[in-house]
Amino acid sequence: MRYLITGGSVLTESGPEDVDVEFVDGSVTRLEAGIQPDEHQVIDATDSWVGPGFFDLHTHLREPGQEWKEDIASGMAAAIAGGFTSVVAMPNTDPVIDAGHLARQITRHEPIRVIPSGAVTLGQEGTQLAHLDDLWAAGVRLFTDDGYTVADAGLLRRAMEYVAQLGGLVAQHAEDPGLCRNGHMHEGSVSSRLGITGLPAAGEEVIIARDLKLVELTGCRYHIQHASTAATVELIRSAKHAGLPVTAEVTPHHLMLDHREVESMDPVYKMYPPLRTPDDVDALRAALVDGTIDAVGTDHAPHAAFEKDVTFEEAPRGIVGLETAASIVRAAVELDQTSFFERMAIAPGGVLGEAAGPIVVGSSDLVVFDPEAEWTFDRPRSKSANSPWLNQRLKGTVTQVFTRSGLVSTDEEGES
Ligand SMILES: [Zn+2]
Repeated sequence: MRYLITGGSVLTESGPEDVDVEFVDGSVTRLEAGIQPDEHQVIDATDSWVGPGFFDLHTHLREPGQEWKEDIASGMAAAIAGGFTSVVAMPNTDPVIDAGHLARQITRHEPIRVIPSGAVTLGQEGTQLAHLDDLWAAGVRLFTDDGYTVADAGLLRRAMEYVAQLGGLVAQHAEDPGLCRNGHMHEGSVSSRLGITGLPAAGEEVIIARDLKLVELTGCRYHIQHASTAATVELIRSAKHAGLPVTAEVTPHHLMLDHREVESMDPVYKMYPPLRTPDDVDALRAALVDGTIDAVGTDHAPHAAFEKDVTFEEAPRGIVGLETAASIVRAAVELDQTSFFERMAIAPGGVLGEAAGPIVVGSSDLVVFDPEAEWTFDRPRSKSANSPWLNQRLKGTVTQVFTRSGLVSTDEEGES
């Protein structure tokens, strides 16, 4: 199939340009103004941004083991609906992805890429290292015990020495187990008023401060997952200033919402890290704009309705995020076309060591995004619908997604 995308603002190597894009047999074949249609399917991208497909460093696909929440197929459909052409699958499945053969089972190349991450410790139990070299041989580059923190500094140091030698990176879900025991929401004015045990900001910050010392010691590349506090931002800023190989991501929900939402006691607002204070939200937004935080990571965390239909304290943590990420980021933060694609596609790819960049002849992963068009998030492609934005009107619509498989988006999404 031959496609011609016309009328859009295309993110090229020299910045946004009004050019046409010809896409044939899974890649861009021409990139210039005034291409005449010749047996092409023409896609009118007027008022839209055309750029590299979004890249998510933090997706929970739940397969194997929890397919009632999500599976790889439904997760890929949700990713496509949200404009993502690559997602990094978190290893906290059942079984945990702690060996190469398990990572190979979830790897996909079409219609979009599913890139496995691997656990740092066996079974994510925090006591013995996972089969790191075996995971590496299966294509794993990012190692994390996400969902849990690697709490033992000695074990983490050994993992970092090993992963540094391999050439990969260690990513940390930072939550000090002692400080965060039994907590359900951010520790602060709202938690005191509600009488709910809190998770102090320090629970995140002490782990990151400690880990940065281990980065100094080992030289291992280190990625901070779902940064959530203003002091975390300061730690990242000074680590980068000191030249440490550190990167960070923030979720769309931490850019948009704060702990006052929990006053409703609606379990949809339960996530770890928890929603923090308005000052934290401001610091995260500024850090994403100035590049202290490199990337958006969705932390797409599907849970079935029956699991969330319990009290706040009993509810599992997390929300789905793939389908609404671009809209929420767009609403929360003022980013121009270049910076928007930098944070949603290029930088996250770079964290993983991928040569992600603007659209060139030969590019395969491409998204057409209308930053002003409105849509309603009322038909999730994910198996789960645990989102505060369910049935809400949102601005910023993904209209087409292309990969090496061709045009992979269905056209139903994005009606106004
Ligand atoms: Zn996490």
